[in-house]
Amino acid sequence: MSNREGNLDAPTRHPLDWKNPEFYEEESLFKEMERVFDICHGCRRCVSLCGSFPTLFDLVDESATFEVDGVAKQDYWKVVDQCYLCDVCYMTKCPYVPPHPWNVDFPHLMLRAKAVKHEKGLNPSRDALLSSTDLLGQFAGIPIVTQVVNTVNHTKLAREVMEMTLGVDEHAWIPEYAAKKFRSGPKKSAAETWKGRIRNGERTPGKVAIFSTCYINYNEPGIGQDLVKLLEHNGIPWTLAEKEACCGMPKLEAGDLKAVEKLKNKNIPVLAKLAAEGYAILTPIPSCTLMFKQELPLMFPDESEVKAVQEAMFDPFEYFMARKRDGLLNTDFKQPLGAVSYHIPCHSRVQNIGKKTAETLQLVPETKVTTIERCSGHSGTWGVKKEFHAQALKIGKPVFKAMAEAKPKYISSDCQLAGHHIEEGIARAAAEGDESPQMEHPLSLLRIAYGI
Ligand code: SF4
Ligand code: SF4
Repeated sequence: MSNREGNLDAPTRHPLDWKNPEFYEEESLFKEMERVFDICHGCRRCVSLCGSFPTLFDLVDESATFEVDGVAKQDYWKVVDQCYLCDVCYMTKCPYVPPHPWNVDFPHLMLRAKAVKHEKGLNPSRDALLSSTDLLGQFAGIPIVTQVVNTVNHTKLAREVMEMTLGVDEHAWIPEYAAKKFRSGPKKSAAETWKGRIRNGERTPGKVAIFSTCYINYNEPGIGQDLVKLLEHNGIPWTLAEKEACCGMPKLEAGDLKAVEKLKNKNIPVLAKLAAEGYAILTPIPSCTLMFKQELPLMFPDESEVKAVQEAMFDPFEYFMARKRDGLLNTDFKQPLGAVSYHIPCHSRVQNIGKKTAETLQLVPETKVTTIERCSGHSGTWGVKKEFHAQALKIGKPVFKAMAEAKPKYISSDCQLAGHHIEEGIARAAAEGDESPQMEHPLSLLRIAYGI
């Protein structure tokens, strides 16, 4: 029976039909939203995941008919605005995803709605600026500008102005810009690492290309340097992707699909060449990894280079654990990590690779990793926006509580933005005199464990 609940068939994802003119027709969009919202109203499994579902169900429950047909179409946008495209409802909850004939793909419906909103010019200009991560990084990364931006960003007056003009909540954590970009450092490992040292495994290429990402390049290059140290410690030759632009995830979240295509056109030829040369491609930010593994292949299903990059792309810990299975990971750790509260971000969960970061850290002796598998509420640029920041902290509350409960020495998340958001949430809830756990990216924790 094909329309049974709880499909036993593996979920499939249909490509995003974003080049079809109908994709942008509001009437057609509303019709599809009404269809899917009606299924969700009858199901309500996702009520606790994010703000989209409670918003939808409240609209239905407060309508004259108590059904989706009683909700004004213009109120549909309220549901859309609450979605930050984490993909968790699709990947972990919904029994009606394809191949089920009901064909529910809630995140892609929200993405379509965001694209329609973008095309109609309904998104605030703030969104275009916040999603231009490489442009912001290039500007703020100019040496003299860096210090000014960092200093100004931390004054109360500047934050109030930023809130008034850009709608960035004055209390939200925002990243600093590094004085020296990650990509300004070495471009590849030393020649001696390469000589006769490429050890391919059954599951892993023995050489790595790093797609550094905007965040690591402009904001926290130390995490990228730690990745390099880990590769070198394991005798894995590495190189930087020759050129890189933003992966496109922030533009995708803003519904600007044409900008995503432009960025894809810059990145894919460079990365496809590396894939063809036999490199494993590693990106240290889960959202960027997901962009190459999932979103671009769904937007450009017929492009062989996009597919080649998808196949060569690894989350760093997915690579390390595969390396371990290949018998090629150094497990001689020198430094116990003690209690680690580790948060697995949504964009890692939906990669369907399991808990590879936790598994790797758990290899370190005298280390206890407590994994928290729940949305932190940060979600890219969504959680820093004035209208959503309080809610982002509310969504993250159970995560902050669970992370603090283990009385950890370290808190950690593969998504460094989520990590800082969690740090902020724990600090706000802490009683006076409570010792704050140290926040470190998992790559930095592994570097500490190796004693390098
Ligand atoms: S994709 Fe994430 S944020 Fe969007 S509706 Fe699903 S669970 Fe909520
Ligand atoms: S997305 Fe699927 S699981 Fe979630 S409320 Fe809708 S129908 Fe139910």
